[in-house]
Amino acid sequence: MSTPQNCEAASDSEMKARAQDLIANITSVLGRISKASSPTRPVRLVAVSKLKPSSDILALYNAREQTKQEPHFGENYVQELMEKAKELPQEINWHFIGGLQTDKCKKVAAIPNLYAVHSVDSEKKANKLSQTRLSFPDFPKLRVFVQVNTSGEESKSGVEPAETLALAKHIQEKCPGLQLVGLMTIGAIARSKDAENPNEDFLTLKKIRDEIWEPLGCPGPEDLELSMGMSEDYEQAIELGATTVRVGSTIFGLRPKKADAAAKSSAEESKA
Ligand SMILES: *Cc1c(COP(=O)(O)O)cnc(C)c1O
Repeated sequence: MSTPQNCEAASDSEMKARAQDLIANITSVLGRISKASSPTRPVRLVAVSKLKPSSDILALYNAREQTKQEPHFGENYVQELMEKAKELPQEINWHFIGGLQTDKCKKVAAIPNLYAVHSVDSEKKANKLSQTRLSFPDFPKLRVFVQVNTSGEESKSGVEPAETLALAKHIQEKCPGLQLVGLMTIGAIARSKDAENPNEDFLTLKKIRDEIWEPLGCPGPEDLELSMGMSEDYEQAIELGATTVRVGSTIFGLRPKKADAAAKSSAEESKA
């Protein structure tokens, strides 16, 4: 598949072909999502557009009436998100799903059409997001998910399962700029490739949700959302209770290699 990485390089017909591909891909994902989910509980698709050009996002945004997909896009890198949010339509709902650093919270929360942050994993970060949000009187509360490290891998961010309730309570009680909406996990890659057995990370996240929705005062378990499932495993995630899935490569194609992504991310760090 040839993927034009920027508008300047792509001809008109290449852009059109690319848009058709993206529309076909998202339509297929939306169809599979609706098959996997119950009609009474619609599941939100966040199209993960990290490291993909704004022209791709715009193509899907412009096709939103045809695809019936509200514009929800997910990004991992703060600098990239800031640039895209600035140049793309204000009607887009942005989701920050990447590893969140305390010193970047201010920049993230200052994006007016930021819809949700999926990766809150400390009181300090929650406080910073909340304070920033409150400093803009016109901004609505920022929806947040508590990221849980369900796989126990040291490389993964997120709170320990046992600390989830405390952080969720802190957000509810001490962060007036935030609205706690749910829990998020990434999970171990190996598990998502194992089609035989139910994904333990998804089971763990659901179990935590089932333990804490009541102490948090939610009317029912499903009022505490679950953000889980990516390209490899979103259908299974929905079967195990996901209310939001984050799908990137199945829609946009493969991303540049991790090394390039890391370079981009560290370039971003030094720019800030
Ligand atoms: C990149 C990313 C995704 C999307 O991954 P795909 O496998 O491309 O669908 C989802 N969630 C998070 C947290 C990510 O970083």
